[in-house]
This record gives sequence, C-alpha cells and structure tokens, in this order.
Amino acid sequence: MNQTHFDTVIVGSGFGGSVMAYRLAEAGREVCLLEKGKAYPPGSFPRSPYNAHDNFWDPKEGRYGLFDLWSFHRIHALVASGLGGGSLVYANVLVRKDEAWFVNENLSQGGYENWPVTRADLEPHYDRVEQVLSPKPYPFEFAPYSGTSKTQAFWTATKRAGLEPFFPGLAVTFANGDAAPVPGEPIHEAEPNLHGRTRLTCRLCGECDVGCNYGSKNTLDYTYLSAAARCGAELRTGCEVKSFAPRDVGGYTVTYVEHPLTAAGPADESAPSTSHTVTADRLVLSAGALGSTYLLLKNRIAFPRLSRRLGTCFSGNGDLLTFVRKRPNAQADPEMPAVIDPTFGPVITSAARVGDALDGDGSSGRGFYLEDAGFPAHLAWALQVMAAPGPLLTLLSQRFLWDWTGKGADPRLPSQLARMLSGNTLAGGVLPLLGMGHDVPDGRLRLRAGRLDVDWNRRASKDYFKRARATSQRVAQELGATFADNPIRYLNRLVTVHPLGGCPMGRNEEEGVVDSYGEVFNYPDLCVVDGAMMPGPVGANPSLTIAALADRCADRLLEKRRRG
Ligand SMILES: Cc1cc2nc3c(=O)[nH]c(=O)nc-3n(C[C@H](O)[C@H](O)[C@H](O)COP(=O)(O)OP(=O)(O)OC[C@H]3O[C@@H](n4cnc5c(N)ncnc54)[C@H](O)[C@@H]3O)c2cc1C
Ligand code: SF4
Repeated sequence: MNQTHFDTVIVGSGFGGSVMAYRLAEAGREVCLLEKGKAYPPGSFPRSPYNAHDNFWDPKEGRYGLFDLWSFHRIHALVASGLGGGSLVYANVLVRKDEAWFVNENLSQGGYENWPVTRADLEPHYDRVEQVLSPKPYPFEFAPYSGTSKTQAFWTATKRAGLEPFFPGLAVTFANGDAAPVPGEPIHEAEPNLHGRTRLTCRLCGECDVGCNYGSKNTLDYTYLSAAARCGAELRTGCEVKSFAPRDVGGYTVTYVEHPLTAAGPADESAPSTSHTVTADRLVLSAGALGSTYLLLKNRIAFPRLSRRLGTCFSGNGDLLTFVRKRPNAQADPEMPAVIDPTFGPVITSAARVGDALDGDGSSGRGFYLEDAGFPAHLAWALQVMAAPGPLLTLLSQRFLWDWTGKGADPRLPSQLARMLSGNTLAGGVLPLLGMGHDVPDGRLRLRAGRLDVDWNRRASKDYFKRARATSQRVAQELGATFADNPIRYLNRLVTVHPLGGCPMGRNEEEGVVDSYGEVFNYPDLCVVDGAMMPGPVGANPSLTIAALADRCADRLLEKRRRG
C-alpha cells in the first residue's frame, strides 16, 4: 500500500477492470486496481438471514456487502460490489453479441445508437476472453445433470412455441479437463488462485446469483484477477474512488477512501475510513455503467471538455423478468417433468433467441433472448413456509378432533408432514423466465441534488417489451402453466441486472464520450472500459462483450505505449 505512483490506476474489478488489469500487468506495466468491495473466497458468501442483513453496499450505514441496489424513478438496477464485480453474482452466461445488432443509426436524424465497432472487430477478442473464462455448455447429456427438470421444461415449452432452444456457454467448471463431469470434485488448477483455496466442481445448488461458496464459477477473481496478481498487479480492496483530476505534468491524481473492511468479513467498525491519493500516467474507469458515469458526472468540473453525450445511451439491455407457474392439478404431460424444481442446477442452463427485423431473415420487431432461471433452496423453503399454513391448520385441527372425540389417532406423523411439503406449486413449480434484448437506449443518467438519477421510461421500447412478454406467455401456455409478471411491473417499474451506457463509444465527441478503444475524447490516457461504454444494448448477456472490448482497449493502450 506504500506505492503512490503507477503506470495505470484502474477503478473497479468487473469485466472491464479485470481484463485491463491482467493485460497491462502481463505486459509489464505497474498496475494498481482500486475496488471498493471486499474479496470473497470460497465459503464466504452469506446465507443466513442474519448475515444477509449486512450483505448490501451502503457505507454510510456501515454496510460493505455484495449487493448494490439502485432505485430510480422507473427502473431499479442490481449490481455487485466485490473483487470480481458482477461476476460474483452473475449467472455465468457468456454469449457473443449478434452481428446484426451492432446497429448503425444516424444520431442526428433521430437514431439512438451507432456502434463504432463490428462483430468482426471483436471476434479475436471474444476468442481470447473465452480461453480464460472457459465457458462450457451445461452437460445435460450426463447424469445427474440430465435430471434438471427446469431445463427439460424450458426445452419442451420453447420448442412447442416454435423457438430453437440451445445451451449457451456457462463460465462454470463442471469437470476436470476432458473427464466426465462429477459434482463436488476438487478442481485441478494449473496455478494457485488469489484466495489460495481449493475450488470444487459445480454442485448444482442453484446459488450462482448469491455467490458460489464452492468456487465452481470461473469468476474474475479466480481467472483474470489471479493472473493479474501473479504478474505483479496491486489489487486494493475496500478502496472507493471519490475524485480524480488531470495533473499539470500529465497523467491523473486519484483520491480514494479506504473503508474499514476485514477481508471477506464484516466491517471493523472501530476503524475509521481513511483517505489516500495516488497518481498515474493513465487512469481507467471500470466502475460499471452506473459507477463510471457517476464518477465522471461528479468530477465533471475537472474535465470541462467532456462530450455533451455524457450520461446518454442508458439502457437496461431490455431486461424483463416473468414467471410461469405450474397449475396444481395440471394434466400429466409425458414430455413435461412433474415438478419444475428451480433450485436444481446452475441458475441459467438454456436460452432461445427470438429474431429481429435486422436479422434480414423475415423476422420483424426487436429481437431478444429468453433464458430459464432458478433460485436457491433457501428461497424455495421461504416459499414453502408461506404456503404451509393451510396444510398445518388441517393437521392441527385433525389432531384436535381426534383428542376431542377420544378416538384413537395414528401417532406417527411422517406422512402428514410429507403432505405439508408436497403440492406447493410456488416452491417446486415456478420457472422464472429472463428476457433480454435489443431495446431502445434512450435513457439518460444525470446528477440530481448530487445523486445519480436516470431519466428513463419504457415508451420507446413499448413494442419490444410487449413482444418479449407475449413470447413468455406463450411459453407458459405450452407448459400448461399460469403466467405471472414480476410484481414490480404493477408499479410501472422494471428491474435490470444489465445496466449499460452513460459514456457511449462514438467516432467523435459529437457521437460519444469515448472512442472505440475507450479513450475519453479530449483527455488522452483517461479511459472508460466497462458496460458504460456501450452505445446501446448488447442484446445477449453483456459480460463477454464488455470483456472482449476491454481486451481490444488493452491492445490499443499497449500499442500506443510502444509507439510513444
Ligand atoms: C443477478 C445477476 C445475474 C447476471 N447474470 C449475467 C449473466 O449470466 N451473463 C452476463 O453476461 N451478465 C450477467 N449479469 C450482468 C453482469 O454482471 C454485468 O453486465 C457485468 O458485471 C458488468 O461489468 P462491468 O465491468 O461493466 O462492471 P461491474 O462488473 O459492475 O464491476 C464494477 C466494479 O466497480 C466497483 N466500483 C464501483 N464504483 C467504484 C468506486 N467508486 N471505486 C472503486 N470501485 C468501484 C464495483 O464494486 C464493481 O466491483 C448479471 C448481473 C446480475 C446482478
Ligand atoms: S450451481 Fe451452485 S455450485 Fe454450481 S456454479 Fe452455481 S452456485 Fe456454484
């Protein structure tokens, strides 16, 4: 912690920041990565309600946990704080952005997005990132994976609805090398990870979105950040960047607060937060779409020549969460599982793509992906308890009747207890469906009374959301199930786990805040490399595209240094 000048300071350790840290450190640059959250070794993700209580990010209340929830007027956004950023809670799906969805609209004539890169530009970078994150399709052909009933239900229902389901790449380790997959085996790693702990192959527990306690996810801490640390990058956790400004001699000064965290443990409340300053030849903001845009907006006074496009192109990547619920007395369907146990298997196993007018294959409207989802067993138990009062009352009144009438009652309860656990279509019969796709990026991030705010509503994307919802309804129908919206929709709000934009790429400062390599127009060696640089929705799950863009940005930075 003593060094105060670096070649590069990186703010944030998500998909943008981690790739940059590794690539620059590997090339011999002195890198310091500042991450506001803590490190999460295997076993450190909270599970009990008591510990979950502190698992939110709110330093002013003394909370330094994983979940950072933002609530804006029409949209809520969930992101993560921790070493590895969103990878710690993501559902592991890595899909390349569709070639036709690198849209080129004329912004001065009412268009919304104009991508200065193409799929071909990103192809080698997608390849390189995939080599590190090792996505693999869900091994459904092997037992016990073949018993994943939500996968079976999703495939049958989407096929009947005329869609083509597929197994997307999941950045999860199911097996050692080419061996057959086995749950819960020690993973053989070529090099030790930064936590110095043994990881286990996926145990199918459905907890990917609350942090994997077995280290089965190939998250950024086990991959890029471990490699960056081995190359000498300094990873400082609990360090929240507050301000930065250009230096007269070139480069940037960065001021951050060090929070009183103990590694992976609760905050040490007796210790005060301390303020520190470091300097760097180049500064990379990778604090996520909300974090990086917020930092630039807050520090705008030090950057008077920033593009007026700052804050624009915000989108929730078309996120739409809905639910299908099996009817309690649905007729037996030989192709459908009797229960949809959403707690078995990784959170997402499968996807189906719905075409877009841009595909040029006769599709109309805006396209999207539909994916199955799951939830952890502790949530299923909570749902079970919610449904329990009925059977519990029956049991108690039966016993009361037996006692009162004096008739001999069977004193053994197993079957009655078993009945209390059966037939709950909330815990065992719900299939969450995640839609995401090509919505209209017309939101704007700004500061209101010093706080981040979003001007966004779904008006421009009304047809998109209607279409995504109607498709989910059709899938529910094919399952013989009832369809339910996310309850929050009734408050005219949406929830996104994929906030994007705010510092969009462009060909010049009229079009964007940064160029296609993430460098801020008019401010050499200041970069934004993360979801904020998207000029529109990725459409598919965005992490792989963020990482591929970061890999491309790192190439350019290194090339520039060699030339300079
Ligand atoms: C529940 C859930 C499931 C998801 N599933 C998928 C999926 O299956 N596939 C997929 O592609 N995407 C998924 N995502 C989305 C994915 O996580 C994000 O798109 C991705 O992480 C964004 O990467 P990023 O580099 O832009 O920023 P992030 O990953 O958000 O990283 C930003 C980092 O910066 C840190 N930071 C912020 N401000 C500061 C500051 N001032 N100082 C220091 N550090 C700071 C944060 O703590 C964070 O660690 C999911 C997200 C969630 C919440
Ligand atoms: S299903 Fe469980 S073990 Fe497998 S990756 Fe997800 S959280 Fe880890």
